[in-house]
Amino acid sequence: MAFKITEECVSCGACESECPNEAISEGDEFYVIDAAKCCECVGFFDEPQCAAVCPTEAPVADEDNAESAEELIAKAKKLHPDKDFGDNYPSHLKG
Ligand code: SF4
Repeated sequence: MAFKITEECVSCGACESECPNEAISEGDEFYVIDAAKCCECVGFFDEPQCAAVCPTEAPVADEDNAESAEELIAKAKKLHPDKDFGDNYPSHLKG
């Protein structure tokens, strides 16, 4: 599932440059995540980077955009067709 940014956001912008998919931008009230571009950092990092760097814990899993681990790595591959993710890619969904 994609992540979303809640109203806890103080618009510090710390997350924007951390996203591997450029999914984060400044919205009208606070920063927003484009769900179509968010792969929960599967394929890139062991944990969602926006949530890791946020000082107010504003980014959370968006229950309305539920996706399986398989769907998330497929999304990452689609967004980065030239990248070889291999079989041992990082994911916070791996046990
Ligand atoms: Fe970007 Fe990762 Fe946050 Fe999704 S979870 S918006 S891919 S930094």
